[in-house]
Amino acid sequence: MALSGVEIFKLLPKTNCKKCGFPTCLAFAMKLAQRQASLDACPDVSEEAKKILGEASAPPVRAIILGAGDKAVKMGEETVLFRHEKRFVNPCAFAVNIKDSESDNEIEKKVAMVIASEIDRVGQKLRIDAISIECASNDAVRYEAVTRMVSSRAPDTPIILNCFNASAAEAAVKAIADKKPLLYGARLDNLDAMVNIAKAHKTPLGLYAEGPEALSSLAEKAKAMGVEDIVIDPGAKSAKGIIEGNTQIRRAAIKKNFKPLGYPIINIVMKDDPLIETAIASVAIAKYASIVVLSSIERWKNLALFTLRQNLYTDPQVPMQVEQKIYKIGEPGPDAPLMITTNFSLTYFIVSGEVENSKVPSRLAVMDCEGLSVLTAWAAGKFTASRIAQFIKESGVENEVKHRELIIPGQVAILSGTLEDKLEGWKIIVGPREANGLPTFLKTKAA
Ligand code: SF4
Repeated sequence: MALSGVEIFKLLPKTNCKKCGFPTCLAFAMKLAQRQASLDACPDVSEEAKKILGEASAPPVRAIILGAGDKAVKMGEETVLFRHEKRFVNPCAFAVNIKDSESDNEIEKKVAMVIASEIDRVGQKLRIDAISIECASNDAVRYEAVTRMVSSRAPDTPIILNCFNASAAEAAVKAIADKKPLLYGARLDNLDAMVNIAKAHKTPLGLYAEGPEALSSLAEKAKAMGVEDIVIDPGAKSAKGIIEGNTQIRRAAIKKNFKPLGYPIINIVMKDDPLIETAIASVAIAKYASIVVLSSIERWKNLALFTLRQNLYTDPQVPMQVEQKIYKIGEPGPDAPLMITTNFSLTYFIVSGEVENSKVPSRLAVMDCEGLSVLTAWAAGKFTASRIAQFIKESGVENEVKHRELIIPGQVAILSGTLEDKLEGWKIIVGPREANGLPTFLKTKAA
């Protein structure tokens, strides 16, 4: 059970020395209880208290690393049921499933698609994170060969060994143990053998059981046998089953600090109809999955799922921003129009997208307004005539353009007069109120 703030306080030194950054030990204890502080911040806590408090201050969902190297994926460490309570911490990983019964040609094609799946959205690299290799042949020799092939074609991509046959799993794990694959496929009837493989090769172990109750007893057994890094699959395949199973697991972990269910969840979401699969995967992403295994990769599907995941896993307390600078859209010459906007990511991407649509090569001055949108930044005094004038002067754009015309968003038309005074020699042009008016505006201006 989680300790209350008062229970934690009783274990602290009670000297109120403030070295932890809090005014009193009680204030620090309250933050520890809410998991908003780390015990490391108190240098004077006793070893005995550390032992007791270590568990209380650890995230209720254990951190697990899938894979090794630059593309390794961290999962777990979640502390809340709802994003608005604080934030969701580690975005769920997407894996595509490859059956070892498919032809080598098919397998190579899928691996190539995984490697090519990476896109850049709002400054973040998004991709299919892992490959799940399913032992559909039930043939240990074939399974090991396919595992080696996939690993050599995608050396940096984390691998999930999706295999319920312990001897096939053992050969495959041995072949790529240095990649720290997730060995998924332990259940009641093969637990001993799978635990031994995971322990021998220090890989995380994926447990499968029908429903949270059976899963928690399986997890307790695996832990008692010496496995710490566990991923759990409650076996649900439908949207309803995933919502029910995953929610029960997350509630038990977060609200009750119930350790046998305090592990990242894996959902195998594979359907014949890609649309249904995408819909169910969306539910899994929204409801606590740490790994979602898909049957196929399509660009439209990736875009939908990447966007949903990104939106859920951004910190709602931190605005998304892009770098302050002059962005070139197309290949603008010295006569190309110059526009200005703020550095809120969404604003930047919408405005730059519309400028691209216009096919008029342009420059877009993006000003640091702490990630606020145009109107909010203006209302907060961050997108003012003085600050815009200073930014334009310091940006060096005066050396890039022959003209002295700056297009400002229509929503801040009120700034035009003052800005002309502050930015000597420049003409201020009021652009459209909404970004979708930019293509017509720019084309008319260029005509
Ligand atoms: S550093 Fe430790 S002893 Fe000092 S105020 Fe913080 S909790 Fe108390």
